[in-house]
Amino acid sequence: MNRRKILKSLGLGLSAGLVLPPWLSSCSNPEEGPEISYSGTVCVIGAGVAGLFVADILISKGIKVKIFEASNRLGGRIRSAKFSDDLPLIADFPVEYGADVIYGSDSKWAGLISLSGVPVVKFQTGATDRYRIDDGVKTTAELAADTDFAAALTFYDNFPLSSPSAGQSIQDVAAGFNMRVQKIIDSWLGNAYGTSYSRIGAGALAQSMAEAEHDPEQVYASQNSFENILISRFSRAVSSIQYNRPVTSIDYSGEEIQVTDQNNQTESFGKVIVTTPLSILKSGDITFSPALPSVKMSSMNNLGMDACVRMLIEFKLNFWDTDEAPTNYLLGVTEAPTILNASLKRTIPNDDPKTMVITVYGSKAEELSALPDIDKVKRVIEELDEVYGGKATLNVRRDDENPDDNTNILFVVKDWTTDPFIKGGISYPKPGATMQDRINLAEPVESKLFFAGEATYYTHEDFDKTGEPGTISGALISAERCAQEVIDSIVNA
Ligand SMILES: Cc1cc2nc3c(=O)[nH]c(=O)nc-3n(C[C@H](O)[C@H](O)[C@H](O)COP(=O)(O)OP(=O)(O)OC[C@H]3O[C@@H](n4cnc5c(N)ncnc54)[C@H](O)[C@@H]3O)c2cc1C
Repeated sequence: MNRRKILKSLGLGLSAGLVLPPWLSSCSNPEEGPEISYSGTVCVIGAGVAGLFVADILISKGIKVKIFEASNRLGGRIRSAKFSDDLPLIADFPVEYGADVIYGSDSKWAGLISLSGVPVVKFQTGATDRYRIDDGVKTTAELAADTDFAAALTFYDNFPLSSPSAGQSIQDVAAGFNMRVQKIIDSWLGNAYGTSYSRIGAGALAQSMAEAEHDPEQVYASQNSFENILISRFSRAVSSIQYNRPVTSIDYSGEEIQVTDQNNQTESFGKVIVTTPLSILKSGDITFSPALPSVKMSSMNNLGMDACVRMLIEFKLNFWDTDEAPTNYLLGVTEAPTILNASLKRTIPNDDPKTMVITVYGSKAEELSALPDIDKVKRVIEELDEVYGGKATLNVRRDDENPDDNTNILFVVKDWTTDPFIKGGISYPKPGATMQDRINLAEPVESKLFFAGEATYYTHEDFDKTGEPGTISGALISAERCAQEVIDSIVNA
């Protein structure tokens, strides 16, 4: 994703001072503090970053926690390659199947990573981006005199302040721009936020972009995988995880809450925190009795979570930079709306090899998801060949043992759409949605059920505002908000 590079130049959102709730700010380590007296156990559903963080905070307060994780691994949409994966890649940096960029060097996730002492590299997007336009690829500088591109860029730069109506999609709002730049706008304000731009509500997106208070820098962990950072940062919570326990029903009709998993094992808890992806809640994989309040259900319908495909393709040399300036993102490619040159600043030496990390959401991801993996990759290579005169096919790394085989391209595909416990990419607001929908989704039910996770992030005056929905920082801050709600419900009982 190439998210909102522009807030700095608008002079917005730079006072990312960490706002902490009173019970956090009084402690030297923000998650440590006085013990809370509670005889029950809190059940956390999902061991993604939100589940781990909320569990970690509660454990630090002396509260007993059990985490039910559906899969056999922690991290959720943070998933990093392991040595045992035996990848066909030669990248000498952590390979991520999911989240790979820290949005904002002053964001919540950046802060936790910095406390862990993990080395990072930073860059700013914009000047280093390239765009597919007409029959070729151009840099921002090369497009400076292109009036269609300049108009689109101004639209993008000012989008957070544009106050579009809640009922319009991004495509509606951008309808007046030339067809030549529509795919680029789709990359900026559609794919970067989780789906095709025709499906995203312009009003709610503009609001969350305008409210996010992090700087425009993008940061990579240069040597450590995100998954390993989670394991080391949240070691207390990790030991509370029960793997392979997909929760199928939650009965909160009585004093104790009954949580049942796929193996029909039921356990009782005093409080339950749901951190599963929005798609899992929407698909009804977990039944609630009584049913969740109708206001929460209708807000859930106002938010979407669509298909998502991640591909990694390596090339023997960098064929896409025509001058000294390295390309960070390549945007506007039909088959691959967001291509990140993940090698940039990480591979030593910096020009060999080159790893393209491709992230596709929405209708294009639905189309690709239906194809065999090799065909997904070939679609991208064919389009790159069109704009780079056949150089993608010429330079893609292949399995040397089968040099004549047309299917011997070395690649990695992770289709999040078909992951049974994720079922898509990230949450996004549909046309007609407002920020209130995320507030409703997050709202606790009867002091028994609590909700965290990226889809439940909204800017809250008592908490750090350096997150956004659909990001790790958003998920982390939602966990802090949720921990506060659980503690309030215990203390005020
Ligand atoms: C391809 C991709 C790229 C991304 N890139 C970035 C990026 O560069 N930077 C960034 O900040 N963000 C990025 N994101 C978003 C980021 O990964 C998420 O916002 C964040 O990881 C969400 O964390 P979470 O805890 O809310 O949910 P999740 O990580 O989805 O965790 C939810 C957990 O619930 C579990 N679960 C599901 N159903 C059940 C059940 N029935 N019972 C028990 N457990 C269940 C799941 O297995 C999962 O472990 C990306 C996402 C994707 C898909």
